Amino acid sequence: MAITRRGLMMVLSSPSGAGKTTISRRLMEAEPGVTMSVSATTRPRRPGEVDGRDYYFVDPTDFHLMVNRDELLEHAKVFGNYYGTPRGPVEAALKAGRDVLFDIDWQGTQQLQDSAPRDLVSVFVLPPSTRELERRLRSRAQDSDDVVAARMAKAADEISHYPEYQYIILNDDIERSTAAVRAILAAERLKRERLVGLPDFVKGLREGSGG
Ligand code: 5GP
Repeated sequence: MAITRRGLMMVLSSPSGAGKTTISRRLMEAEPGVTMSVSATTRPRRPGEVDGRDYYFVDPTDFHLMVNRDELLEHAKVFGNYYGTPRGPVEAALKAGRDVLFDIDWQGTQQLQDSAPRDLVSVFVLPPSTRELERRLRSRAQDSDDVVAARMAKAADEISHYPEYQYIILNDDIERSTAAVRAILAAERLKRERLVGLPDFVKGLREGSGG
């Protein structure tokens, strides 16, 4: 017997290079009940990225149309490009009792915090050190030096937003960090307020029809 519950929205934020993409990937492999939100962006596609899987790559005109039609749950400008979360797939997943994982920045998290505080679970991933952060950014070798430098400068700014998050993960070990996120997910799924089917379930137990 399962107790029906509302899906939750789990946000993972961090400066780029802190390892949150790897954690998200591991989480998606391990947790079949989780749907990854695919964002729309005006940023150019990087080698290896697939349209519709990593992002929906759109031009600025289309992006602004989506904003004007209120088709985005949140949106923000990051590193000079626009990013936003399409509303439809998220609402459909939550309604079906699935959980949704978001890889979005602090600006988007603030917007979700304002619009859906009850459903939001926010996690901030910290890199173990500045040196390690820079090493990870450089080893990607997909962005130009200018972009890497700009991202390093932005990292300090992004990190300053950690107090706005409920959970903090220091990512010095991918396995441990993934396990920590899964533990957060497991606990948050049991929150009484999310268990919309609880009154009926308990009623059944008290009436002796709980099996
Ligand atoms: P990247 O260009 O490296 O894929 O992502 C750059 C930053 O944009 C990351 O911090 C990522 O979390 C953020 N981002 C990606 N998609 C969205 C989105 O839909 N909304 C917001 N607010 N930020 C996003």
